[in-house]
Amino acid sequence: MIQTVRGTRDILPSDMPLWHRVEAVAREAFRRYGFREIRTPIFEKTELFARGVGEATDIVHKEMYTFTDRARQGSEGESLTLRPENTASVVRAYIQHKMFADKSPGELTKLYYIGPMFRRERPQAGRYRQFYQIGVEVMGSSDDAAIEAEVMEMLDWFLKELKITNTTLLINSVGEPASRAVYLETLREAIRPNLDKLCGDCHHRFETNALRVFDCKVESCQTVVATLPTITDSLDEASRQHFEQFKAHLDARGIAYTVNPRMVRGLDYYTRTAFEIVGHDGLGAQNTLVGGGRYDGLSETIGGPPTKGFGFAFGLDRMVMALSEAEAESLRAADAPSIFIVFLGEAARAHSFVVAQQLRAAGVAVAMEFEDRKMKKAMAAADKSRATYALIVGDNEVATGKYGLKNLKTGEQESLTLDEIILRLN
Ligand code: ATP
Ligand code: MG
Repeated sequence: MIQTVRGTRDILPSDMPLWHRVEAVAREAFRRYGFREIRTPIFEKTELFARGVGEATDIVHKEMYTFTDRARQGSEGESLTLRPENTASVVRAYIQHKMFADKSPGELTKLYYIGPMFRRERPQAGRYRQFYQIGVEVMGSSDDAAIEAEVMEMLDWFLKELKITNTTLLINSVGEPASRAVYLETLREAIRPNLDKLCGDCHHRFETNALRVFDCKVESCQTVVATLPTITDSLDEASRQHFEQFKAHLDARGIAYTVNPRMVRGLDYYTRTAFEIVGHDGLGAQNTLVGGGRYDGLSETIGGPPTKGFGFAFGLDRMVMALSEAEAESLRAADAPSIFIVFLGEAARAHSFVVAQQLRAAGVAVAMEFEDRKMKKAMAAADKSRATYALIVGDNEVATGKYGLKNLKTGEQESLTLDEIILRLN
């Protein structure tokens, strides 16, 4: 028996209503806040991620699915990678399609995406090798902190609409590249005497980008991290002011947050604002739902014009896990047919096909089975389908054009014409 590859999984029909709900609420949020969808390819040139995400990140360093494409005549096969995240691709598309052209100074490009990402990490609950993200990117020439606060407001609405209430918004500023370079030296000096207490990955991080040590999930490393100077202490003045404005905009919108000076995000391209939303219910150890931040340098890193950017991504897998039991149950219940047709006899069977066709044409979700059965067996099948009503068709109904409509919850039964039934269900 051939099974799914480690770290991948099937999303079964019983879970799909939950996925659809999260996607639908996200799309509604994006509609309200003026985001439009973009779909980029699932694989790109490896160089895009190497440069865009950064060689020093865990993602590029050890998590990418990279392969060499078949060689074409006269040229070697190029190195391709299954996308580990979507921001670099969206910024690539923004540059490639010159979305920055013909823009007024304040005009923003607001995009969102939904789709699978691929990272070769250790699989566990809430951590997969193929997982799904929904994310947004705001690009343009403005880096107003109000842009960031508005995106936070949208996330706040989104979570409330899904009734995911027990979450914490963590915010920080990682400053400008220039101030960060100075800070990184201070940080390396502070880490150096503790180097022997850090894990192998952190040794690598120390060499390539010491800031990433804050990201380490190994407990002994976290003990060292707690003693290190934070980036907040050496922020440049412009970034400090930007952070103050961001917080003021959040306050004005009534959005609660916690400043965490040790929260730096896993990607190299972040500047200034970084944030995470952490969930507390049903998630276990993998409790980061949303991650995002500002990335003013990314466009230039991959060969584009100077562009300011801000965005986030959330894990759809984890967002579905964060739905409450009650919410999940009611979503599953709503995923049943409205009517299950029960017919008795050969003539009624033929008539039922016409009735089903008419009901479906009128927008009703109809289930029926094709075998002629005794009433009791047929009603058991109707119950099993979780339909709201059973529609009973026998010889008498065929003759009169009135059908028995039985509410399967209350047991109440009425005799109605097809038009009356359609009215009832719409
Ligand atoms: P983590 O710290 O959990 O590894 P990350 O910093 O790598 O997260 P991002 O790259 O910012 O995460 O991705 C944003 C969100 O995507 C995460 O907060 C999480 O909800 C989700 N996510 C990331 N990696 C995975 C994965 N392997 N499986 C499921 N969801 C994931
Ligand atoms: Mg990760």
